[in-house]
Amino acid sequence: MKYKKMALVLALGVGLSACNNQKPAENNANTEVSQEANNDKVDEKKVEKTNQNMESTSVYTSFYPIYNLTKQIAGDKFEVKSFTNLKTESHGWEPSAKDIADLTDSQLMFINGAGMEEWGESLEESSDIELVNTSENVELIKGSHDHVHEHEDHDHAHEHDHSHSHGEFDPHTWLSPKNGLAQAKVIADKLSEIDPANKDYYMENYKKIEDELNAMIDEYKEKFEKLENKNFLVSHQAFGYLARDFGLNQIALTSLTSTEDADAKTLKEAVDEAKNLGINTIFYEMGGSSKSADTIANELGANTVPLNTLEFATDEELNNDTTYQDLIKYNLEELYKSMAK
Ligand SMILES: [Zn+2]
Repeated sequence: MKYKKMALVLALGVGLSACNNQKPAENNANTEVSQEANNDKVDEKKVEKTNQNMESTSVYTSFYPIYNLTKQIAGDKFEVKSFTNLKTESHGWEPSAKDIADLTDSQLMFINGAGMEEWGESLEESSDIELVNTSENVELIKGSHDHVHEHEDHDHAHEHDHSHSHGEFDPHTWLSPKNGLAQAKVIADKLSEIDPANKDYYMENYKKIEDELNAMIDEYKEKFEKLENKNFLVSHQAFGYLARDFGLNQIALTSLTSTEDADAKTLKEAVDEAKNLGINTIFYEMGGSSKSADTIANELGANTVPLNTLEFATDEELNNDTTYQDLIKYNLEELYKSMAK
């Protein structure tokens, strides 16, 4: 019985539907007139300004960590919007034609990059919006793997799995605070570039994030360095960058068993390996199902604890504007506690 649940983690879902080659709505064509347009087009420009709030009073972001960092930096100077529904798992999401047509009120979108936004390329082709890749200065980890999210869908009271096949690189850059800092810098620089009058304001806001993240990085570097056991086991292989930056060893549940039909023997080997590695905590994805983690934890006599991937936000996080820094710190502390035991 238990072993069946293991297969859930291993099973690969269906491919993504392609609805990304659609052109935006016709009225989008009006927005192509640039600021440098001829003077004799004054009237047209006026109309356009009121239509789409030229000089971008709004910017788009792709999902919660990028949204939250941009909000902190932009402060009251821009309205920060999210292209995706922030409460929805962001892997594997595809925009509709309407989503794309609705983008006309902004010229800019901050994305994570590293292959996270699988719709990015087609969006750039089919709209005028400029995508800013916030992970452009991050040294990416290679790794093409498929993995599955077990995700409770509370609204519809059923459980469904969905998978995403990553591209060439591990997309989860934002889960390491070092990367988050580099990504915040790209956001601050870009906002300063498009709105130079407020450069000091953006840089000041960035500096607060920088101070907080640097203090966190120093604190946990020191804590993790002293540990003997640096192994942690996760159901969602999303913490590769964090592991790299803090000298830790991420083991994903999927990597412990190699076949889809994990039989009793395979599972026993996986459990034994986890035991050998001194693992006493199985991390599962916050907001998702803990079923697989529970299964392994039962075998091991281990605990299960959620980690936050920030791939979707809860109502509470949205209502409180819970900061990127706070969510990352939670993960670091939970990882540390599990390994310090
Ligand atoms: Zn992920």
